[in-house]
Amino acid sequence: MASHIVGYPRMGPKRELKFALESFWDGKSSAEDLQKVATDLRRSIWKQMADAGIKYIPSNTFSYYDQVLDTTAMLGAVPDRYGWTGGEIGFDTYFSMARGNASVPAMEMTKWFDTNYHFIVPELGPSTKFSYASHKAVSEYKEANALGVDTVPVLIGPVTYLLMSKPAKGVEKSFSLLSLLGNVLPIYKEVIAELKAAGASWIQFDEPTLAMDLDSHQLQAFSDAYSELESSFSGLSVLIETYFADVPAEAYKTITALKGISGFGFDLVRGTKTLDLIKSSGFPAGKFLFAGVVDGRNIWANDLAASLSTLQVLEAVVGKDKLVVSTSCSLLHTAVDLVNETKLDSEIKSWLAFAAQKVVEVNALATALAGQKDEAFFSANAAAQASRKSSPRVTNEEVQKAAAALKGSDHRRATNVSARLDAQQKKLNLPILPTTTIGSFPQTMDLRRVRREYKANKISGEDYVKTIREEINKVVKLQEELDIDVLVHGEPERNDMVEYFGEQLSGFAFTVNGWVQSYGSRCVKPPIIYGDVSRPKPMTVFWSTMAQSMTARPMKGMLTGPVTILNWSFVRNDQPRYETCYQIALAIKKEVEDLEASGIQVIQIDEAALREGLPLRKSEQAFYLDWAVHSFRITNCGVKDTTQIHTHMCYSNFNDIIHSIIDMDADVITIENSRSDEKLLSVFREGVKYGAGIGPGVYDIHSPRIPSAEEIADRINKMLAVLETNILWVNPDCGLKTRKYAEVKPALTNMVAAAKVLRTQL
Ligand code: GLN
Ligand code: ZN
Repeated sequence: MASHIVGYPRMGPKRELKFALESFWDGKSSAEDLQKVATDLRRSIWKQMADAGIKYIPSNTFSYYDQVLDTTAMLGAVPDRYGWTGGEIGFDTYFSMARGNASVPAMEMTKWFDTNYHFIVPELGPSTKFSYASHKAVSEYKEANALGVDTVPVLIGPVTYLLMSKPAKGVEKSFSLLSLLGNVLPIYKEVIAELKAAGASWIQFDEPTLAMDLDSHQLQAFSDAYSELESSFSGLSVLIETYFADVPAEAYKTITALKGISGFGFDLVRGTKTLDLIKSSGFPAGKFLFAGVVDGRNIWANDLAASLSTLQVLEAVVGKDKLVVSTSCSLLHTAVDLVNETKLDSEIKSWLAFAAQKVVEVNALATALAGQKDEAFFSANAAAQASRKSSPRVTNEEVQKAAAALKGSDHRRATNVSARLDAQQKKLNLPILPTTTIGSFPQTMDLRRVRREYKANKISGEDYVKTIREEINKVVKLQEELDIDVLVHGEPERNDMVEYFGEQLSGFAFTVNGWVQSYGSRCVKPPIIYGDVSRPKPMTVFWSTMAQSMTARPMKGMLTGPVTILNWSFVRNDQPRYETCYQIALAIKKEVEDLEASGIQVIQIDEAALREGLPLRKSEQAFYLDWAVHSFRITNCGVKDTTQIHTHMCYSNFNDIIHSIIDMDADVITIENSRSDEKLLSVFREGVKYGAGIGPGVYDIHSPRIPSAEEIADRINKMLAVLETNILWVNPDCGLKTRKYAEVKPALTNMVAAAKVLRTQL
């Protein structure tokens, strides 16, 4: 029985690649140094998989930046502005596309399906010239071969590549990217021929777009592409790999009908319906089924007994020698190696499996299917599964009951938003176009050091409070000088908007090395939600009331919302996501109520990541939005009319989910907007009825550039043309944490000046 891994993280168990890249970019080390780190990482990964007994080991899943950019390089599809003149693409051109250079900005980056991984979006048009310009796939194959490891080279499939691209600047938006299929296939043919000549016996084409809602034209592209490639496949076995969701029935039919393909890979973790589809529609005789039963998107140990029975069902359908045990998707989206987790206790550790452990699980399942079950490994796994089910650390009956009681009922504030805004205005007495900021103020090195030292018990609690109090005071005084209307305390006590709350809630664990690549050299370390979530004691009241005591102006209480906490964590898989979300919502609700009881009149509950959790398939989106929005409302359904609830979101492309956002029923929403006024405002121009307060960011905080008062006033005027004067707020795009005071002070000065000038004209 064979085993297969779809792909593996590149960063290294201790983010070795990150440090090598950043040192190279800073000019502190040479290209050879960087290549050496990369070679060592690849070697150890291949060796690890070979030692574990994996039969189909991937190559070309390493990347210096991004696998989609690697494909762009392979196809020679370098946008003209990078001045590439041909030949093999080197670091210069490659990293210029990824990160920009002194004279040219980087290519655009966007989320890879519904993961937190970001890829570099190819820019294509009718005049794009394709040529075989990066031989990386072949050289990685050869490199592994020289180490004695026969690998399966992985390529992003031609259809997914084109569907993930965007029309280049100046090309009509309606340009059909799929019309380029005939231009890219010759390059794919060259790559295939070269891989074959190098000795490859299998090639894997990743075509995750097959799990999306595709129209017949797009599905036809798969038939066209792979029939065109069929002749190059002779003498080769070819795997089409899908992941991240169920493959819809039509797509399943299309691909399983393809000739010349030897195997199909499916995500059986997220794609629960695929199993039924395979059982009911059948599976083409003589082909391999790569069954993705080990979750590549999470950090939980596999329930091996359950997977084994799934595999046995499949075995009966496809035949014993045609079933391959695999991961649900590339392990890129999970943490690297549990071995380096020195701070987790052994009980929690026994519940987890990172990429290195998942490789072992895949192999254990394959050998078990082949009749050589490693009894000790399976029984240790069963014991860990049982301990996770029964551990008192996981289950908190009170929380379970409270969350269960929420179901079926709605949670809304009793009064409608315009009446509430009136009641709040009587109390808050704000000018029209009130000014505020999103929460964080610049985080200096000193601040970071103090937090670190306090955590490491190197400074006393007293000294810590004193330093943070001084910082808050500084931020409060600055805002008063700037004459901002609704103040923030600046969040100096927070390292990260999710971690800060996770550390104080029960049911959360934190890793030391559980990094996952987000983009390029950037990684995130999501908290692990392993148990029922509760709030043992207030989390923010101490700092918020301290800040409020320093000023007569309203001070916003600052919280992270339940959906964002959920979407930026590794979430337990033993109950539906919405249940975990409701639990977090109840914990945040308690915090909201404590803040209100301590005299805080404005409370902001950030839902920066609400959109990120949106399922890929349209048929599942309404359900998600329903429970996500409900969770948000739970947090604040109990407050008085006079308490003003704000929320903040880090994106402006909400045209398609505007009704859900309205349904959150916040009093005021601040949103990122700097790069797309028009898009945002068009929603309102189209007549969407919107009565709550709204603050579309008036300047971009991602850039050090300082906007002038005129420019800000101009933008506010554009908004005023579409939105009622009495609902518009004036604020930056997002938190100011990554900016310097030298930028923040003049920018906010101009922002307030713009608001004041406009007030006199209205
Ligand atoms: N309140 C947070 C801050 O200002 C919001 C950050 C975010 O939206 N990502 O930092
Ligand atoms: Zn934001």
